[in-house]
Parts: sequence; structure tokens; C-alpha cells
Amino acid sequence: MRTNRFMPEFKTAQELRDIQLKGLQWTVSHAYNGSEHYRKKLSQSGVGPNDIKSLDDLARLPFTTADDLREGYPFPLLCVPFDQVVRIHASSGTTGKKKVLCYTKKDIDDWAHFFARCYEMAELTSQDRVQIAVGYGVWTAGVGFQLGCEKFGAMAIPAGPGNMDMQCQFLVDFQSTVMCCTASMGLLLAEEVNRRGLKDKINLKQMIFGSERSSEAMRARMRELLGVEHMFDIPGMTELYGPGTGLDCVHHTGIHYWADYYILETVDPETLQPTAEGEIGEMVVTSLRKEGVPLIRYRTRDLTRLLPGECPCGSILPRHDRLLGRTDDMITFRGVNIYPRHIDNILSTTRGISCEYQIVLDRKNDGKDYMTVKAERGQNVDSAQNDALSRNIATRIKHSILVSADVQVVDYGSLPRSEKKSKRVFDNRD
Ligand SMILES: [Zn+2]
Repeated sequence: MRTNRFMPEFKTAQELRDIQLKGLQWTVSHAYNGSEHYRKKLSQSGVGPNDIKSLDDLARLPFTTADDLREGYPFPLLCVPFDQVVRIHASSGTTGKKKVLCYTKKDIDDWAHFFARCYEMAELTSQDRVQIAVGYGVWTAGVGFQLGCEKFGAMAIPAGPGNMDMQCQFLVDFQSTVMCCTASMGLLLAEEVNRRGLKDKINLKQMIFGSERSSEAMRARMRELLGVEHMFDIPGMTELYGPGTGLDCVHHTGIHYWADYYILETVDPETLQPTAEGEIGEMVVTSLRKEGVPLIRYRTRDLTRLLPGECPCGSILPRHDRLLGRTDDMITFRGVNIYPRHIDNILSTTRGISCEYQIVLDRKNDGKDYMTVKAERGQNVDSAQNDALSRNIATRIKHSILVSADVQVVDYGSLPRSEKKSKRVFDNRD
């Protein structure tokens, strides 16, 4: 029995805009009255709580950044008295101070509600059994997966991460139908299920991956070993409640995001001007009903694009693309903003190519910039293929990124490998 309890009630784009305008007005006034830091920022930009007359006024508001959060450590941008704070979560940033976010009771309820919407979007039913194998604690948000699941009405199995013996046993004994974990763990689990010959004894239908994107290759492998029907990458960040801020539907045409909870803009990370629908930009979010720590034009540093058109599922909820990298990864080449993941995507979907590559940028004597892409041939692929492979890749780069690159196909194993994140971009231009 399918439910339809957590989807928004609005039916038209105009109704959505009305909800967003009300939410924006409330948020600006709440932030102005609740936080000295926000009041200062808003005053400096000359926009007060009474100045938000339409959604166009969003563009007049100042950006909020990770620095604003760090400056106010330990409880930055808090807009309610402490007696209304019922929980904190923190994000384990790689540098500097952690970002700590405070939640009110309503924030927790709202999060549970829209997380339940994720399960509804993935077409779960109350018959489903959800094995939640992500972390629980201050840094992680397993509790979000769980509250959403309980609110939705499916059965939560709060397994926590790791412990493959236990995970496999739960899959068999409890007949879990949905697995929530990181993509890497999903892959390990798939190989473990395969090694133990359990595929016919389990009943897994869906996988929801948190905190880390799954690659096409990973998905194909998991599909083969586990026989699952649908896989989803769930987006989200601690600053904006946590995971669950949207989900693709079973048509997998992009992520439907909860535009009644937050406004999503994309901006050019250099000029901070909005990018057009369909164009890649930095994702900027403004919360519409967040009490503890509302966000006003928060720069996420994540790159994505808004997807035009309608989804075959008929949902009125707008869509954004998968996350396409971080703004720090951006390369400007001959006036075009390029993200290594762009090229990564092209190479990883080219047959005969391994997953190792390098992008080298040079400025030659003619003053122009040149790009060389070194791509490894796949293991056991004949070097006679080199020319055809490089032509194919160059054409695809030209077609999808609109730049010319000299593509060199090199022997399998000839590019350096690292257990940590490999350096893949070499910019020799300065
Ligand atoms: Zn859809």
C-alpha cells in the first residue's frame, strides 16, 4: 500500500512561490531578531526584515559562509534562546573549527517529516524493512534516517556501520528490503554477500547511499551482486538539518528537492552572479522554516545545476543534478569553468579506459592555454586501440564541455596511484 502523506500540498508553481516568499520573510525577520551576527550582516547590506516584498529580493541578501559558522563557534548563528534547543549536530570539517548546528524541537520534527518524504519518493511502503547502516552520533546523522523511517511507518533496523557478519545476518534473518549505508560500504557488503553465497537468501530491493556519491561502476557491481532494483544517493548537509534534503524518484532523472523547506540558487563561484537553469554553479541555500540556525544564502561550496523541465513522475518538486564536485576543484580554461568530475564522468563511461587519469594545463608561447588529458587504457585492452580511444574521448569532451583537449591514452598502470585522494590536476600555467 503506497502512501502519499509527506509530499507537499501545493499544486502549482505559484503556490510554491507563495510558500517560499512567506518562508523567506519569516526567515529574514527571525534571523534579524534572533542573532546579533545576522542582524549586523543584514544591516550592513541594507536589507531589513520589512524589505522582502518578493522572491527577487533574495538576491539583495548577503551570503552566509562556513566562516560565519566557524566564527560563532561553538553555537554560531543561533536564533533562539537555549531553552528551545533540543539537540546539536556537528560536521567534522577537515580544517579548522567544527561547525556546530543547534536544532529546536520543530527543526527535528521538520527533518523527520522531509526525511519520511525521501522514503515516500523512493516508493517504500510500511511493509519495508530499512537496515540503517550509517553512523549514529554527533558527527553523523543515522538518527535522521531512523526518525524519518519511523515517521514514515516502515520498520527501522538501526544497525550502525561496519560489522559485515551482523549486516549479512540481518539481511538474511530480518529480510531487510532497504539498505542505507555509504556507497563504499554497500560495495563491501555486496562482495561479502557474494562471497557467502547469500544472494538468493536475501530480499534487498533498494539502497540509499549517504555522505558519499556512488559511481556508475560501483552501482553496476552492486546491482549485479545484490540484485537490487533501485539505488539512490541521498543529498544533505549538517548545516541544512542533515541528509534527506531531496531524493531522485524511481525515474532517476535528477534529485527532487524540498523547495518548500529551502530555496536553492546556483551562482557562479567567482562572480557570485546567479547561473541560468541547466548551468553548473555553486549551490546556495536559504532555509524557509529553520528555527535554531536559519540559513540565508548559505554557500555550500558544492556544485550542481538546476534541471529544467518536468520529470516523468509528475512531481511538482523541482530537481537539481547530482553534486558535481566542490568549488575548490574548479578550473577556468579558455573562459570556460571546468570541473574535473566532468572529465571523470566521460572517462568512466568510456569502454576500454581504466579509472586513472590526469589533467594537465599548460600555457604555451602563443599565450594560449592547452589541456592535455592522460587516460589509462583498461587492463587487457590492446594498445592498438589507443588512437580510436583518444579520438572518442576528445570528441566527447568537446561535445559535452565545449573545450578541445589533447587526449593521450597511456598504458594500464603507468599513472601513479595513491590510497588517499590522488592528485589528478596539474596546472602549470603560472
Ligand atoms: Zn521524478
